[in-house]
Amino acid sequence: MVAIVQAHVFRPRDLVGGHVVIDLVNTVTARDATPIDWIDGYPRLLEWAALTGRFDPADLVALHDLAVAEPAAAARALARTRALREALHDVITALAGKDVPAPPQAVAQVERHWRRAVGGARLAVHGGAVRPRLSVETSGLEYLNHELTLRAVDLLGTLPPDRTRLCPGPRCGWFFIDRSRGNRRRWCDMATCGNAVKGRAHYQRKRQAARAPEDRQAT
Ligand SMILES: [Zn+2]
Repeated sequence: MVAIVQAHVFRPRDLVGGHVVIDLVNTVTARDATPIDWIDGYPRLLEWAALTGRFDPADLVALHDLAVAEPAAAARALARTRALREALHDVITALAGKDVPAPPQAVAQVERHWRRAVGGARLAVHGGAVRPRLSVETSGLEYLNHELTLRAVDLLGTLPPDRTRLCPGPRCGWFFIDRSRGNRRRWCDMATCGNAVKGRAHYQRKRQAARAPEDRQAT
């Protein structure tokens, strides 16, 4: 995917995916038209991560300091985030489109990220569970990539195909997991895409109604 990179101030309404990994995939918008990548630098990735509320703020501060000290390494880390994001997009597209096998290249790409993430992880005992645990100390600027990869692998194993949907809104292309009780959510966000489509239909109806007298005169 070739996307236009555009500065964007992330807002809560940009997080409609129902899972942090889906929200990462949705940081490229308008995939159905000309894709726009809203993450225009490593600091923006940190802003997005902070907004999700899924990362320890102290880790994000530590990553900010690392990025200031090593801007070239931060740029490389962001390039890997983008590669991970696109591979995840392709896998999720397949999993959401029932009976479509996930493209092997995309799965292999996720696997490469996963190997690196596991390489930075330790098994930690917490309460009654043993889980992989990552840290900024061991992963450095790759910390978010590693975290997002491990969470992505968890998600890809449990993604409900009948509830994973692509928003049909114009210039959207966002995925979301429908967690509503009725399983009838259609839009990423009713307030944006839902209303945009409804508003356009309303406008077209009004325009047709306004034209009707002229059409009658013309015939
Ligand atoms: Zn939408």
